[in-house]
Amino acid sequence: MSALPPGSTIGILGGGQLGRMLAMAAAQLGYRCHIFSPDPDGVAGEVAARWTHADYHDLNALTAFAEACDVLTLEFENVPVAPLAALAGGAMPKIYPPLRALTVAQDRLAEKEFARDHGAATAPFARIASAEDIPGALAITGCPAILKTQRFGYDGKGQVRTDGSEDPATLWHELGAQPALAEGWVAFAHEFSVILVRGQDGAMVHYPPPHNVHADGILARSSLPAPPLVQAQLAEALALTQRLAGALDYVGVLACEFFASDAGPVFNEMAPRVHNSGHWSIEGAVTSQFENHIRAVCGLPIGDCSLVGAGAQMVNIVGGTPADWLGHLADPRAKLHLYGKRESRPGRKMGHVTRLA
Ligand code: AMP
Repeated sequence: MSALPPGSTIGILGGGQLGRMLAMAAAQLGYRCHIFSPDPDGVAGEVAARWTHADYHDLNALTAFAEACDVLTLEFENVPVAPLAALAGGAMPKIYPPLRALTVAQDRLAEKEFARDHGAATAPFARIASAEDIPGALAITGCPAILKTQRFGYDGKGQVRTDGSEDPATLWHELGAQPALAEGWVAFAHEFSVILVRGQDGAMVHYPPPHNVHADGILARSSLPAPPLVQAQLAEALALTQRLAGALDYVGVLACEFFASDAGPVFNEMAPRVHNSGHWSIEGAVTSQFENHIRAVCGLPIGDCSLVGAGAQMVNIVGGTPADWLGHLADPRAKLHLYGKRESRPGRKMGHVTRLA
């Protein structure tokens, strides 16, 4: 493992708030970041040394970007894999995490099968390739169930709940008539995540698990310490996350989301990147998830993940309601993060506030 010297350039694929916070952590360690993003709303590009605004399929732009960087990483798991794989053929910088992690995480079915093959308990699931598959899939999962598109689902998008009474053709239409899976509804007590960091030498550390509460499929808040049931299920969820990271030869931050059920932790999904449920770590941990991801990608020693105080709570600021940013600042202990997005749309993550206990 050779450490990338300060002054080197880290290329980040994806230009959203995760890239913005990664670039800020990288700058603190003396690195320069080059953002590659097709999104003209440059919330990451605005805090980075360089920003390429181009499509992920633009191989010329991608090649020029890669040649200008010393190492590559990503903040968005739906970056198309094929153009990146084409790059990897030449004398290109290394990309962390490895592309296989993206391939698995981009496909809900592949992800669930991969986790199950490594010993995860999952909700019962079945593939849906057409409207005709829906009754058979619901017979496997039971009802209520949740139908999820196989690809490009995030923040509750591409999901339809069903009690089995709806017409399959209507459900298929609501899914956008695309490959999907049915998942049995999990009666959970809590949701939590395991946020793990794996270095280039294979050493792994993890954050204390945040207790996550979602509203309309979007993370609303993460709190630490998590309730006793989550603490009791952490060892099993962590062991699984470590197996997944090892199997992928993962480098960087890997987040796995779990349901804490009466029967133990149920794996929901994994994110091959820094995660919204880890934003509290900027103020609440000795080393933030953003800094630790940069450390891992650059071959540096990984920092301590411990909580700095008795607890922390992170609340997301989601678009669609008037942003009371001055109201948040009226609490002198609140740490406000705004992502600089020009347009507030319902469900869009605009910022977050962290309070330490
Ligand atoms: P996902 O995009 O899969 O993370 O789903 C978003 C949110 O929907 C989750 O965080 C849960 O709150 C809820 N959810 C998703 N799948 C299930 C399930 N099988 N059972 C119960 N709740 C679910």
